Amino acid sequence: MEGNILYVVIPCYNEEDVLLETAERLRKKMRCLMETEKIGAESKVVFVNDGSRDRTWELIQKLHEGDRLYGGINLTRNRGHQNALLAGLMTVKEYADMVISMDADLQDDIDAMDDMIEKYRNGIDIVYGVRSSRAKDTVFKRASAEAFYKAMKFLGADTVFNHADYRLMSKRAIEGLAEFKEVNLFLRGIIPLIGYSSDFVYYERGERFAGESKYPLKKMLSFAVEGITSLSIKPVRLITILGFCIFFVSIIMLIYSFIRHFMGATIVGWTTLMVSVWAIGGLILLSLGIVGEYVGKIYLETKERPRFLVEQFLINAEKEK
Ligand code: UDP
Ligand code: MG
Repeated sequence: MEGNILYVVIPCYNEEDVLLETAERLRKKMRCLMETEKIGAESKVVFVNDGSRDRTWELIQKLHEGDRLYGGINLTRNRGHQNALLAGLMTVKEYADMVISMDADLQDDIDAMDDMIEKYRNGIDIVYGVRSSRAKDTVFKRASAEAFYKAMKFLGADTVFNHADYRLMSKRAIEGLAEFKEVNLFLRGIIPLIGYSSDFVYYERGERFAGESKYPLKKMLSFAVEGITSLSIKPVRLITILGFCIFFVSIIMLIYSFIRHFMGATIVGWTTLMVSVWAIGGLILLSLGIVGEYVGKIYLETKERPRFLVEQFLINAEKEK
């Protein structure tokens, strides 16, 4: 693929403990990649300050003054990891031929960048970094993450297993991403929808070398809910299906109640009560599901997602564009 200017985009929220070390490690890596001519000399590392309350932005400014390798983007306030990352991607897409996104704590092995770039040069547009094992994560984090992917998949939000937001994207893939105008953006779920050729790079995930996780359980849960509700209307479909099931049970209950009734084994009123309770419950759920289906349709329409993205257009037309 053409162009070899790499931008590394890093969202940072209260990362003063790790920032300088991260910057230093990345500087070495970038110099190394430049010397071996894997990336252009104009390549940069851009930190996105996501409304940090500590000295993060000051440090980014200092880095930027000291070395033209470093760039910074300062958001007006904390908007969360996904939005910070998106802000970074959209801001640098004019300058870069390829962009790698990663976390500020370098838990994701930066040596996997070589493979990512290699794949990009072989014409791959999106390279997902995938954790080959989670040996270093706590048992809780591992189990909850596993449950997260499974639940997501079941509820119709299919994502790349064990892939966080460490990935390489080509310029045109980011331009494709820019066509997704939705506000509730769940990047991991949207990126596979862009299309183009994609591949994987496997790496070991390390520990955070300083500072603490900015993703406590509460944020992880809301992240999961966000992922599911912004990608899929399957939960609504589940209500419809449940409505059908209960309605079906009500028919069985109807037959059963009549049998009991004619056997004379019931007290007065039992049959009507049983049948109506089930039938009404089933009908309510079913109707709710149907209304939900329409709400779901409206929901998907309001996202105004692109219906297609053209990769190439071969034509011998008279008129020049
Ligand atoms: N982050 C952010 N905004 C937030 C929370 C986190 O930009 O509101 C960044 C954070 O600085 C880091 C990345 O998102 O670069 C991932 O966070 P963290 O490493 O704490 O998550 P974990 O690895 O524990 O899942
Ligand atoms: Mg981390």
